[in-house]
Amino acid sequence: MEDCIFCKIVKGEIPCTKVYENDDVLAFADINPIRDGHTLIIPKVHAENIWEISGESLTAIHLASRKVAAAMKKALEPEGIAFVQLNGRGVNQIVMHYHLHLVPRPKGAPELPLTGWEMIPGDMEKIKEIADDIAGAVQIA
Ligand code: 5GP
Ligand code: ZN
Repeated sequence: MEDCIFCKIVKGEIPCTKVYENDDVLAFADINPIRDGHTLIIPKVHAENIWEISGESLTAIHLASRKVAAAMKKALEPEGIAFVQLNGRGVNQIVMHYHLHLVPRPKGAPELPLTGWEMIPGDMEKIKEIADDIAGAVQIA
């Protein structure tokens, strides 16, 4: 896609710090790392979000993510690695080309903001009502 910054990275028109690449995906360092080692994995074929990406690209991303996560574990020995993926402006998706964030928490680094939420028990009736709404809308493939 013409004006897409990540498509430009795929085409080599904008530089990136590459971590891993195969025919379907590219993994590179995020330029605004939440923690050291923050890496993005993107499909080479443009798709905006989880609703648009093909099954093939999605599979390729997740297989590659396992490879990159294994490498991170070996190279950085982090406390853990969070996988984060945003869909839509309403949840702060900034780059509208599907990407999976791999965010390691280095040893001794503060907890990631996105993994530190408070556990507050929900209203079970409301939980069930909403889950039923979602379940009712699931498409049987
Ligand atoms: P999101 O869309 O999930 O909110 O995040 C987009 C991510 O892409 C951000 O973490 C941002 O730092 C990263 N990003 C934006 N532009 C570039 C770029 O040109 N190069 C790299 N390496 N990362 C980028
Ligand atoms: Zn793109």
